[in-house]
Amino acid sequence: MISVDPIKAFSDNYIWCLSNPEGEAWVVDPGDAAPVEEHLRQRDLTLQGVLITHHHFDHVGGVASLTKQRDIRVVGPQTATPEINEPVADGDRITLLGSEFDVIAVPGHTLDHIAYYGNTLLFCGDTLFAGGCGRLFEGTPEQMHASLARISSLPGATRVYCAHEYTQANLAFAAAVEPDNTALQTRIQKVEQLRQQGLPTVPSQLADELATNPFLRADQPSVRDSAEEYASIRLSDDIGVFAEVRRWKDNF
Ligand SMILES: [Zn+2]
Repeated sequence: MISVDPIKAFSDNYIWCLSNPEGEAWVVDPGDAAPVEEHLRQRDLTLQGVLITHHHFDHVGGVASLTKQRDIRVVGPQTATPEINEPVADGDRITLLGSEFDVIAVPGHTLDHIAYYGNTLLFCGDTLFAGGCGRLFEGTPEQMHASLARISSLPGATRVYCAHEYTQANLAFAAAVEPDNTALQTRIQKVEQLRQQGLPTVPSQLADELATNPFLRADQPSVRDSAEEYASIRLSDDIGVFAEVRRWKDNF
């Protein structure tokens, strides 16, 4: 049985800590080592490994420090950081804490971006966010749309562990795209309550993302209509709709 806990880092990053009852732990995207060391100490956990989703500094910045005094596994895209000692790519399967995780290539935010899926848990870094998706720093709208489609095909009960607390701002944008989406209105209220109590809004359920996240809904007439209105042109396909919604959010 794996438990997953958030470690807060920087202003809005979550470093996810997976642990088992034996006190063995893995962390995902440790951009900063200090809060990870503090968490391990407080919970009396032994770090066994690190999962990396992509090369951005706020995801790999703490790896060198964490591996300095420890001989541990560092799993990720080959080029993400020099400390990677177990490079993985799409289609690979890894075992950690007794559970299997599939590696899924999800280029778009960066070209090296991968996600880890297993045990109904998805660690997707900066690809899918609660209510949103990552910016396209390196990839094309086609690539990101395809990556999000792969994530969308996972079971609806999948718990989505993204790397940032961006949910409120994302859902405010989603409401501009789909003002008549009642599932979205319900979700906005739930998220407001969580944030008022200072609680994380992550993980979310993939089924909720499919019902409310405009970046997974380019095939919906309501999203297409709004995207066409924003762009002032007719859009020929879902990728075009996705690209305009992403451009709209970048300027929102
Ligand atoms: Zn990033």
